[in-house]
Amino acid sequence: MRLLVIEDESALLDQVRTRLEAEGYAVDTATDGREGLYLATEYPVDLAVVDLGLPELPGLDLIRELRRCGHTLPVLILTARGKWEEKVSGLEAGADDYLVKPFVMEELVARIRALLRRAGGGARDTLGFGDLTIDTHQQRVSVAGREVELTAFEYRLLEYLARRPGQVVPKPELSDYLYPHDDDRDSNVIEVLMGRLRRKIDPDGRRKPIETLRGRGYRFAAA
Ligand code: CA
Repeated sequence: MRLLVIEDESALLDQVRTRLEAEGYAVDTATDGREGLYLATEYPVDLAVVDLGLPELPGLDLIRELRRCGHTLPVLILTARGKWEEKVSGLEAGADDYLVKPFVMEELVARIRALLRRAGGGARDTLGFGDLTIDTHQQRVSVAGREVELTAFEYRLLEYLARRPGQVVPKPELSDYLYPHDDDRDSNVIEVLMGRLRRKIDPDGRRKPIETLRGRGYRFAAA
């Protein structure tokens, strides 16, 4: 799961990022509204946390713009204490939930989980195909009841595909997701990663949970 946090208070941003990464999320950050909008529209983000008081482009405008362009990702807004009107306008602009500053990290994590769960299958705890089971909560993968050791990248690749069963996912989308800050991407990297992943989750090559569509991408089997 990939989260985007847009917040201009750098100390708070660091705190939030550290905590969310510890929870196992991939976290992208932006410190102004314009950069945040760019990241939210250009990358496959599963949820955005948006501070309303942002430089360049206010949080409310950012959310309106996202929704206007048809982006449905869940948005959690951060509002300043005592500004109840902010919550209302935030929700009207298209936010899904809000949290009033200062907040405790546990509550932020709980709200994010709930939003992802509500986002419709987006945060199902268990994914899989046949006897391949992916426990996204604990990030554990097993085949026929036996746990399989995956590296962090192999796991993220698998979960990303498994959350989109039946959908063709192009290679560039996968490299964007796995290596967002690498400008010098090489599609061979994804192929190598995919080869390793397949040997682990489908050692005898009979289950075929992930299909390769030549020139188009990969597809996780729909149950
Ligand atoms: Ca702010």
